[in-house]
Amino acid sequence: TYNFCAGPAMLPVEVMQQAQDEFVNWHGRGCSIMEMSHRGKDFIKVAAQAEQDLRDLLQVPANYKVLFMHGGGRGQFSAVPLNLAKPGLSADYIVSGAWSKAAAEEAAKFTQLQVQTITTKTDDLRSLIAPSDWQLNPNASFVHFCPNETVDGLEFTDLPQTSASLVADLSSTILSRPIDVSRYGVIYAGAQKNIGPSGLTIALVRDDLLPAKDAAIPCVLDYRLYAENDSMFNTPPTYAWYLAGLVFQWLKRTGGVEAMAQRNQLKAQTLYSYIDQSDFYRNDVATAYRSWMNVPFFLADERLNDQFVSEAEQNGLLALKGHRMVGGMRASIYNAMPLEGVQTLVSFMKEFARVNG
Ligand code: PLP
Repeated sequence: TYNFCAGPAMLPVEVMQQAQDEFVNWHGRGCSIMEMSHRGKDFIKVAAQAEQDLRDLLQVPANYKVLFMHGGGRGQFSAVPLNLAKPGLSADYIVSGAWSKAAAEEAAKFTQLQVQTITTKTDDLRSLIAPSDWQLNPNASFVHFCPNETVDGLEFTDLPQTSASLVADLSSTILSRPIDVSRYGVIYAGAQKNIGPSGLTIALVRDDLLPAKDAAIPCVLDYRLYAENDSMFNTPPTYAWYLAGLVFQWLKRTGGVEAMAQRNQLKAQTLYSYIDQSDFYRNDVATAYRSWMNVPFFLADERLNDQFVSEAEQNGLLALKGHRMVGGMRASIYNAMPLEGVQTLVSFMKEFARVNG
């Protein structure tokens, strides 16, 4: 089977097998890594290796903290304004889809922060406003955006020009292609798409953006507290952290982020080019902004939706039903999805169109 779920996503098969082999008796220690103290030598080594591997994969500069947090993407929707808002300054929130909208709504709850929302949409997804044309406030305490909108299926790869710190929600695109970390103030991502199981959240935070020592921030969202305690102020999600480490090693073994980007581009091209030449299916996102990770598509005859989903499942192609806000179908093709999975999907789509078209 191939799992096209948008998250929590599938892990690479090799990683699952390794985790299974090590599950009960990790490295001959007689118990699972999950059962070991996070303060013990063994886990600290696993944790430090995972951090180093992530630093290597993304070439994270030394002046950035790598934090392994709780709370998921939405936890960061609160953590970002709580840690970064400066008194008297506003924050710019780019609203390009469902998740960036949710982030802006969360930020607006913090009354000390004035949130300016900037939409990237004109009348539809075919004509989006390019990052270079976003009307940003140079004095904002930060600019928040979501480079890959998981629900809407659009992805911005260019960065806006601004002197304010950029904060990016990379939950559904981290490690899918190279990025220049030094261009961002904060990058965060819920782990559950390209990194590992849910329950772990990664935040890369430039040193100068750590909050003041006495800032009134809930401890589980406080970047400084995490940084000063090696992400172990409270009990971290140890098993998710260990699994993330296995995924980072798998990525390194398979050529790193550059090689992954080539595979992801080919997977996305394979699917979009079939959809574009078909009368039976369509994708509504402007070509320049189509996501490599989440591909929403629609059947010309929407009455066939349920039949499509159920026949796909019978053929081992899981979770293709579109997000409830968008409808239609969505194929999430994260790092762990092999090219063969996409090719199998395209073959199924062709056959479905031939029989029902
Ligand atoms: N941001 C993006 C881009 C997402 O795709 C998601 C979830 O899919 C979230 C944030 C919310 O993440 P969580 O469910 O971990 O809070």
